[in-house]
Amino acid sequence: MGSYTDGFLKRLRNEIDIDQMIHTLALETRTGTNYLRFRCPVCHGFHTATNPKTNLARCFECKINFNPIDLVMAVTAQSFVETVEYLKPHLTDTRTNG
Ligand SMILES: [Zn+2]
Repeated sequence: MGSYTDGFLKRLRNEIDIDQMIHTLALETRTGTNYLRFRCPVCHGFHTATNPKTNLARCFECKINFNPIDLVMAVTAQSFVETVEYLKPHLTDTRTNG
């Protein structure tokens, strides 16, 4: 624990597309008008939306914002370190330059 830099963790939160992660985790989704709804891993409802600007997935029932790390932990019940190791390879195929 504690061996990851803030910058690295920030990249995981910001550069791994939250919509893509929802698909990667095979969460059930429903298409809203302008946003993606996903089955909340906590309450299993669909009162949810993702925000591409903040790269967060929100459940309005639970009042929780999930970043990619939070989402993987909630879905897979992996530890923080396991989650970071799981997400790390996803960084390499993510475009970092606009
Ligand atoms: Zn929920």
